[in-house]
Amino acid sequence: MTSPSAQPYTGRFAPSPTGPLHAGSLVAALASWLDARAHGGRWLVRIEDLDRPRCQPGAAEQLLAQLAACGLLPDELPVWQSSRSALYADALARLADSGWAYPCGCSRRDIDTALTAQGVPHQRFGERPYPGSCRNGLHGQPARAVRLRTVQADGADVCIEGCDRRLGPQQQNLAQTVGDFVLRRADGLWAYQLAVVVDDAEQGVTDVVRGADLADNTARQIHLQRLLGLATPRYLHTPLVLDADGHKLSKQNGAVAFASADPQVVLWALAAAGSVLGLPTATASTVADWLAAATAAWCARWGPAAPRCPASAVA
Ligand code: GLU
Repeated sequence: MTSPSAQPYTGRFAPSPTGPLHAGSLVAALASWLDARAHGGRWLVRIEDLDRPRCQPGAAEQLLAQLAACGLLPDELPVWQSSRSALYADALARLADSGWAYPCGCSRRDIDTALTAQGVPHQRFGERPYPGSCRNGLHGQPARAVRLRTVQADGADVCIEGCDRRLGPQQQNLAQTVGDFVLRRADGLWAYQLAVVVDDAEQGVTDVVRGADLADNTARQIHLQRLLGLATPRYLHTPLVLDADGHKLSKQNGAVAFASADPQVVLWALAAAGSVLGLPTATASTVADWLAAATAAWCARWGPAAPRCPASAVA
């Protein structure tokens, strides 16, 4: 296993092409680009188009055009997850060979029934952890999905500790909070957790900078990295853009795409994203000037001299 600090900095922005870039996703794109520039590193874009039913035709091209209008140009051609199935299949085979991945025949209803029988209450938000019904073998049903164990061979829960550059020390008991999670879905699609871990490692990503809505996935990803013998990148989860009711702004709740043709609109969108990231207001008449000022400000706050693991969350 190699430590990310031993490798040259590589960052990435990994949008799902379910719609165009909006004020929320621009924050993650900008933060990952600024962090790469502040560390003199490479910045990649990966199109996460595995969940075909949710992808919108043309959205990836629109996202790339919007990024370009914002001056956020990847250092290499973007990669598309839909063309990388062989890598995910290879990782899944290794996890199955080591006994960590197993076939699951449960439908959603089977899972609900088992959880109710175990007296696990319904949660209003979030899914209840998988009850482990197929962990020790299928019960006569055909295999549907493939899951990953979150319980060790000796029965101990897998607990993951890590550190986020902004949120500070993190820990999660995977067995209690998420349970054995899906690597390949019942509809045959690769799950985000497996693909993101395989791709980050294969692309040499040393630093993941993304929105705080994804912070809860990190422990699952570290678990997978360890099982596959891959380095764990450093993580920084950015603040989210919230709507007037305090909900995360997303494509689902109607975040509007900004028009990328007008440089004034682009400058306005960048300034709004910069303020979410706590960057001082910079007056600039061109996108290039704005980005140069923002890079200097980001470097002062999150550059190589900043603590890798603050004792507690940094605002
Ligand atoms: N594709 C994910 C999304 O658009 C982001 C994945 C990641 O940054 O790890 O929410």
